[in-house]
Amino acid sequence: MPERIRVVKDDITTLHVDVIVNAANESLLGGGGVDGAIHRAAGPELLAECRTLGGCETGEAKITQGYRLPARHIIHTVGPVWHGGAHGEDQQLASCYQRSLKLAENHGLRTIAFPAISTGIYGFPRERAAQIAVREIQSFLSDHELPETVTLVAFSDDDRTILQRALDG
Ligand code: ADP
Repeated sequence: MPERIRVVKDDITTLHVDVIVNAANESLLGGGGVDGAIHRAAGPELLAECRTLGGCETGEAKITQGYRLPARHIIHTVGPVWHGGAHGEDQQLASCYQRSLKLAENHGLRTIAFPAISTGIYGFPRERAAQIAVREIQSFLSDHELPETVTLVAFSDDDRTILQRALDG
């Protein structure tokens, strides 16, 4: 289903989609990497809403408004910290994609963009993460009408290549 999944190299905070996904930490109170960029771009109202959510467990996802972002909503999901791969990291990362897609569907959202969850500060190997992302998204889309399209957002040329290769199989 190549027409429903695409790879772009961009700053996820600039995308005009119904919802962007944040690679958050369990506190949901902001951090570095894409999380910091999203909080800066969305403005302080985001932190105020996040404070009401009571955090989020690894592999789970919660939704907020997008505030000053072009995106209407933000889904905050917490990827696993990489500890070598024998501690359930693959399943937890898969769960991030599954829960985020389910939440988008439940809110009637048609377009969603994901960063490469866990592959920055959390240290998940990039190729392995890309394969899990593509597999979980393809699996979800194959039996759900929503979301209609999924954008995989790379933040470097290398990541774009890795994600495109995973998508091309
Ligand atoms: P994690 O803690 O889940 O590893 P990071 O934010 O450190 O999260 O990294 C996740 C991915 O997001 C990395 O590939 C990083 O390069 C990328 N990234 C960082 N900032 C942005 C941004 N503004 N837009 C899109 N991707 C970003």
